[in-house]
Order: sequence, then structure tokens, then C-alpha cells
Amino acid sequence: MSGIIGYIGDTSAVRVILDGLRRLEYRGYDSAGLATVCDGELFVCRQVGTLDQLDEQIRAQAVPGSAGIGHIRWATHGVPAHENTHPHTDAGDRIAVVHNGIVENYAALKKKLSSRGVRFRSETDSEIIAQLIGFYLKRGAETLEHAVHCALMDLKGNYAIAVLDKHNPEKLLAARSGSPMMVGIGEREMFVTSDAPAIIPYTRRVIFLDDYQVAVVGRSGAVITNLSGNVVDRQESVIDWDVTEAQKEGYPYFMLKEIHEQPRMIKKILLLKLDFKRLHLKLEELQAIKQKLSAAHQIIIQACGSSYHAGLIGREIFEYFSGIHTDVEVSSEFRYRDLTAGTDCLVLSISQSGESGDTLAAVRRAKQKGMSTLSLCNVVGSSISRESDSVLYLQAGPEIGVASTKSFTAQLFNLYLIAIFLGMMKRIIKRELKDSLIKELTFIPSLLKKVLGEEPLIEAIAHKYAGYRDIFCVGRGINYPCALEGAHKLREIAGEHASAYPAGELKHGPIALVDETVACVCIAPKSQTYDKMVSTMQKIRARNGRVIAIAGEGDEEIGKYADDVIFVPVVQEIFSPLVVSVALQLFAYHFAVKRGREIDRPKHLAKSVMVE
Ligand code: GLU
Repeated sequence: MSGIIGYIGDTSAVRVILDGLRRLEYRGYDSAGLATVCDGELFVCRQVGTLDQLDEQIRAQAVPGSAGIGHIRWATHGVPAHENTHPHTDAGDRIAVVHNGIVENYAALKKKLSSRGVRFRSETDSEIIAQLIGFYLKRGAETLEHAVHCALMDLKGNYAIAVLDKHNPEKLLAARSGSPMMVGIGEREMFVTSDAPAIIPYTRRVIFLDDYQVAVVGRSGAVITNLSGNVVDRQESVIDWDVTEAQKEGYPYFMLKEIHEQPRMIKKILLLKLDFKRLHLKLEELQAIKQKLSAAHQIIIQACGSSYHAGLIGREIFEYFSGIHTDVEVSSEFRYRDLTAGTDCLVLSISQSGESGDTLAAVRRAKQKGMSTLSLCNVVGSSISRESDSVLYLQAGPEIGVASTKSFTAQLFNLYLIAIFLGMMKRIIKRELKDSLIKELTFIPSLLKKVLGEEPLIEAIAHKYAGYRDIFCVGRGINYPCALEGAHKLREIAGEHASAYPAGELKHGPIALVDETVACVCIAPKSQTYDKMVSTMQKIRARNGRVIAIAGEGDEEIGKYADDVIFVPVVQEIFSPLVVSVALQLFAYHFAVKRGREIDRPKHLAKSVMVE
């Protein structure tokens, strides 16, 4: 998604804005721009291409000003081109606006303003916001704030915006509906941003805006109002992320750094959520909704992308540990379905950013239907976390790589904790079993370290198969969703075709595609279906397909049926996705490196997908 940063203070606005945009560029973007105001003039610079090119343009033009707004764009309406790059200005070049999100009714609004003589200069939906503000000011709106309120009331869709007015150089305006926006509070300087990492080096004190709220931000403070102009009281929050967590620390890519962070991350989650002495789960967030949880006779997990795959694994975990019937839905489908489940259904929403547009819409829908809502998010204060009845934070730390790795593993780990909690609450798990399960979970950090220790071998195998026409990922039971996630990672990062199948389905069609140009990653830790998996591997080899097995350490037989084997530590089948997923992440990473891909900025993808 696009990123926004705005600054008002004593120092050069372009330096702070460019620095902030650089902290957001990992999310993927196609063009960038900024606007400042100085001596009653508006200065606008826009570039299709890199931030270095934008920087050059800014230096060449010596852009002045200590108030400004900036944007990196991930296009939704209009190709990446100079005229479509933000900031957009109104017809009178008085107002500059940056926007994240989609204005759904922009075409109708554009028609209306065009018929009144307003000339548009871009193909974006975003330009309408600047034009509307300019239009209302021309029509006699008394203040900038009033014009912004009027413009926002015309919009349908979602937005996070920052607004600059050359006639009001002492303030910035920011607003949101359905897309994140926060105000950063510094020492005699203030910020607005869509993403905390942009301002972390300057301040950790923030105010998260709610939908339909507008912040009027001056050098020494901000006033938050609703769209009628009435002041609303908003609490300050403190962001507890570390600046170093948002840096590469010597790794070539964030993705690799984040893969390697996983043992430490799981340790941190354990420290926060476990009383080691009593092997007791400290999930206060769940204690708070204990009544709703015990009333739940059905769980629906809803999520998108990798979080959806975590949800599919979650279904197995929940049914195994708690015996509660669990369904898993893709958010973009779930939100439009006829919801037949009753109020005894718990909807668990999974989203790293907590801002995924479809997941958020589905949370709202579930609430309307009277269902209980619990969310599993990484970003504190995000929309989904705030709108759900209760939230369990992943505690994965900031994830910068576009392809989810550590947050996926953190989702799995938290799902185990929730399921064990539910199992105990439903008295399916007795104390001794709980103790032994939790003990097993405390070994996970060292087991993940062991998987990471296999990296040289995994790298060699990934390089060997990087030239193959097609990669299949195949698994069974709880490892079928791991196969889905493995193929998903290959598509995202390597930009190559990869597909996933439940092993038993291969013979019903996909096996027709297998020949010597196809490599199949077969997930085969010891399990109740191990023999069946081995027979699938034989079928693949009988058609000249290549087999890369992921198997448990000490499995001496497996080498007979595979061309290559990646060994992972032996754990109970139910916990196997934790070790298998990390091996698959390393495989996808090295496969993509060998293919020469831009790992942290994969083509056409963005980190959090707020648009619907
Ligand atoms: N709709 C805007 C555009 O295409 C912003 C897109 C976004 O938020 O990613 O420029």
C-alpha cells in the first residue's frame, strides 16, 4: 500500500519527509512525491521511479519549507506516471493532497466538478479530494477545516489523507476512514503518517485517528475533530518498536533477517505469554472474553494471503486441542456470504497489519450479526484490533519484508496458545497434558535454530531446482496448508509459477502435468499418513518428476524415494508446521535469489493490502 508522511516543525521538511518515505519504501511503490509550503508558495516534486531520483529533483530545485507532506504510491487507479503521482493539487494550485485508499465514487464526483468547469489532470481517484477541497474553498467555505469536512462527506470508499494549504502554512490536516493514519508528537515538531516506522526515529508518541476524524496539526500540537468540527478526545499511545528492528542489520534483505529472527521472536512470545514456573498461559486478552469463548460452539477463522494459510493450520490445531468445530474463510469471500452461523460463533480474524480491507469489512459484518470477534494482529492500535471485541497481539515486531515470514510463524505460535487455552477451558486438555504441550512449545526456539542451521544445504537444493519449469508443493493433513504457504512464498518472492496440492489429490488431475521439468516439494514428516505420502512420491518419480522431501531427522528410508532431502527436527505431527514452514521459507528465499529477484520488493505486491 501507499505510504504517507507529513511534517511541521523547525527543520527542513523535505529531509524529514524523504527520510520517512525511505523507511516505507520496503512496502513496494511505483512513484513518489512531496509538497512543501514556504512564503505563501506551494512547492511540488513528483517522480516515477526511485526515491534517489526524487531526492535529486529536490536538491536541484532547492525545495524550501518546514511544513510538508509526502507519499509513495502503489497505484490502484491510473498507471504509474508523473501526472498520477501524489501529491495532487486543486485547479487553483492552492491545496496539495496525498491519499491512501480508494475513492469509490470518484467518477461521479469528477463528472459533477467537470460540469462546473474544474479541469482534472490525472487518471487517479485521489485527485478528486484536492479538487473538492479547492472547490469548497472557492465556493466560500470559511476555513480550510470546513472545506476538508465538506469534501470528506462527499467521499465513498476509504481514505487516509494529508492536506497542505499554501494560505495556511502553519498547519497540516490529516484524516482517515478505513485506512490508517496517526499523528506523531515530537518536541516542537509534529508528524502525520500512515505507518509508524516512518516516524519512529523522531518520536514514539502517537495518536491513532479513528474513522471520520480529522487532525489539525500545528508545530506544537494537534486538535482532533469529527467531520462536524466538534473536538474529540483522543488518547496518546506509545509505540514500543525498536529502530534497529526496522533495519537490515547486515542481512542482504529484510526477508532473510526476519527468517533468522524467528527463534528469538518465539522466545519473546513465550516470555510474554507464559508463566514458566507454573507452565501457565498468561493470556489476559482471552481471560477478558472468557464467557464469550465458553459460549462458542463454532469458530470461523477469516483472513487473506499467508494469514489465511495460518488459519487453515489453525483449524487443525483448534479442532485437535479444543474439539470446537472450526471453519476457515478467505475474507474477501466471507464478507459477502450469507452468514448462517449464530451468535454462538466466534470469528477469529488474522491480519499482520490489522488493516487488511476485506478482513476489516468482515469483522464489521460479523459484529452486525452479533458474533463475538477476536483478532490476531501484529500492529498495535490497528483498525482490526480496535474494532474486534478482543485482540491478541502477535508480538512479532515490525515485519518489513513484503512476504510474510516471522509474522506467519508468530500467527501459528499464537494459534497453538489460543487452542490450548480453549482446550483447557473446555476441559478437553487435562493439566498433565497441558504441561507437556507447553514444555514442547518451549523447545521450539532451539528447534527453529536447528532448521536455520540447515540453510547451506537448503540453499544448494533451492539453487539446483531454480531453473525448473514448475514447482509443486505437496502435503497432507496439517501440512497441506504448509504446502499452500510454500507455493505462495515461491510465487510472491520468486515470481514463478508454483502450485500446491493435497497429496491425495495429485492422482485426480495434477499428476498429468508431472514430467522431468517439474520439481515437487513433498512434505513428509512422520505422521499418520506418512506411508501414503511416500507412495505419492513414488508416483511422481515414476513420471520422471523430481522429488525434494522435507522429512524428520533420522528418517533413513526417505532418501530412497527422493532426489534431495531437507531434514527438520522431529516434533509431534500437530507441531510440525512450525519447523516445516521455516524450511520452506528458506527454500523460497534462496530459489528467488538464484532467479535474481528483488526480494524485499516483489513485483506488483505491497505489504498490507488495505484496498478491497
Ligand atoms: N488510489 C490511489 C492511487 O491510485 C492510492 C492507492 C493506494 O492507496 O495504494 O493513486
